[in-house]
Amino acid sequence: MKSMVYDVAVIGGGPAGVTAAVTAARLGADTLLVERFGDLGGAGLQGFHPYLCGLYRNAPDTPFDLLNRGLTEEFLRRLTRESDADGRQRVGRVEVHAMRTSIYQRVLRCLASEQRGLRVALLTGFTALEMAGSRIESLRLAGVGEGCVKAAMVIDATGDGEVLRQCGAGCEPKSGERQLAGYCLRVIDIDDSERMAPIRANYCVRRATQDGRLPTELRYTTFTLSRDGEGGILKLSLRAEPAVPRDDQRARTLGDKVLELLRRETEEFANASVVDRSPRMLHRSGTSLRGIYRINQNDVLRGRHFENGCVRAAWPIEFWDPVAGPALKYLNPGAWYAIPADCLRSECVTNLYAAGRCISATGRALASVRVIGTCLALGEVAAKIAIAAYRNMEKSNACTVS
Ligand SMILES: Cc1cc2nc3c(=O)[nH]c(=O)nc-3n(C[C@H](O)[C@H](O)[C@H](O)COP(=O)(O)OP(=O)(O)OC[C@H]3O[C@@H](n4cnc5c(N)ncnc54)[C@H](O)[C@@H]3O)c2cc1C
Repeated sequence: MKSMVYDVAVIGGGPAGVTAAVTAARLGADTLLVERFGDLGGAGLQGFHPYLCGLYRNAPDTPFDLLNRGLTEEFLRRLTRESDADGRQRVGRVEVHAMRTSIYQRVLRCLASEQRGLRVALLTGFTALEMAGSRIESLRLAGVGEGCVKAAMVIDATGDGEVLRQCGAGCEPKSGERQLAGYCLRVIDIDDSERMAPIRANYCVRRATQDGRLPTELRYTTFTLSRDGEGGILKLSLRAEPAVPRDDQRARTLGDKVLELLRRETEEFANASVVDRSPRMLHRSGTSLRGIYRINQNDVLRGRHFENGCVRAAWPIEFWDPVAGPALKYLNPGAWYAIPADCLRSECVTNLYAAGRCISATGRALASVRVIGTCLALGEVAAKIAIAAYRNMEKSNACTVS
């Protein structure tokens, strides 16, 4: 096994991981970014998301007011430059930014590949770690970049909290706080000449879950047409157990079953075929950091501004209940809450930070925090906090030596 030494190791190449790694490298840290799949982008890419959520303040009097500047703003500028239309849209009570996943992926890839001091290891999974007292001593990687990595600071940006679970710094969602997961198929060759394909698909799946031909967990499955007119996305909703590898296989099998049913029972899907699919089940809830502070539903809905707040967020609590389905609880129009830096710091592991969906948040708060706009900003801040701690550590080591 090869052995490698870095200042900062970021595990997970989703929005939070990319901004964390780019920021750490910009601050002069020798940085490694590890991603299990073949490209950067995380769930946004793997689920073909149509919108970036959580970027704007949702204030009707000052529309499209960006909540966070810095690297989030830079990312958005580059995304806008590459897009052929202005993505800003109001949808109901929230403001979103429409995007093509291919451009989203390209911008993240460019940000990372152009960054000096950053090594990106794709098709490489974090598998295990060794502790030395209250510090992570080394990380084991498998796949293309197989080896043993030592890093002064570790940032968990896996979404599912894989690093923090392994070092005992994680918390599982309480009962009643686990949300439905998703699994997406990109489907083409749909006949939408009567403009009924989404309605027929949603109705057909719903009926099959009611009469027992499909499992009930699939009842909130939806089909939406792509904006570019090329087919659409079939988004399965699935009961989720955290980090069970066989769940991914189950999601694939159910995806095939749903499409088979649609082909058989609707004219619109008779010739439909799959051109792409999620490589894994996409979780909404999972292991989160046991942080110094745990942000909760009240903090979110009351728009609490903490003194050590480091990221602004305003997305509603969008909770996908396994029985009742999705429901939204909104902040007041134009209101925002601050996520304190203590939600990114581990209570017990001194060189571990969380970024993105696995920060320290209750299940309900997480249903607001987890959107891509907020995760981009969380990654940048996690890196800044980690580097500041690293510099303090170096300073105090120098004092001890002298
Ligand atoms: C069905 C669904 C639809 C959604 N729709 C939207 C939407 O339209 N707009 C929006 O803004 N948000 C949406 N979200 C939320 C959003 O996609 C995620 O919450 C967000 O991407 C989280 O970002 P992240 O960087 O924390 O984690 P992720 O995006 O999940 O990225 C984590 C990365 O870590 C990698 N990884 C995991 N484990 C390891 C390991 N052991 N080793 C190496 N790499 C690893 C993963 O492959 C992944 O690339 C949706 C979520 C779901 C589930």
